[in-house]
Amino acid sequence: MISADLPVAAIRRCSRDAAFMSEVAAFYESLDKSVASHSPVCTNRGACCKFESYGHDLFVTSVELAYFLGQAESLGKAGQELLAPADRSFCPYQQGGSCVTRIQRPVGCRIYFCEDRSQHWQGELTESALGELAKIGEKFKLQYAYLEWTTALRKLADRVIDEPIADPTSAPVTLSIDSLRKRS
Ligand code: SF4
Repeated sequence: MISADLPVAAIRRCSRDAAFMSEVAAFYESLDKSVASHSPVCTNRGACCKFESYGHDLFVTSVELAYFLGQAESLGKAGQELLAPADRSFCPYQQGGSCVTRIQRPVGCRIYFCEDRSQHWQGELTESALGELAKIGEKFKLQYAYLEWTTALRKLADRVIDEPIADPTSAPVTLSIDSLRKRS
């Protein structure tokens, strides 16, 4: 079920909760092992992260967003930034054919492989992963949300810094985590 409302306060609370971050990290570690057991191979060099030209969207849950924000904040001093893309045509973390945010990338990015031989296991693993995320959300009282990735990044940046987002036709806005902290 797609839900456009973003529980920003709960996302921020969980992003700073060590127990939450540890639980999601363990979930991702287990998920990555499940994916690796199928020995998938990526050959498209980030083409699937250019959503408009590739013809698909990436959807994320509030749990994935909270973990993403928590990692971005913890990596802030190392230069990691929260990017708010101008529109939904591509992911701003795809740079030069590589994902520059692999540690905290969402579930869909971990499971999706375009090769034919990887199609048969992805649906079941995605359903299972979404179920696990829902359980984590319930445990940490993080309201369910499921929305398109770039929209989520814009909403998160907009609500977190409490300022209007840029004109959607303009270039992506880069927000440093330090500036987010200062305004909170
Ligand atoms: S987070 Fe990384 S893998 Fe996921 S869409 Fe963005 S660049 Fe691609």
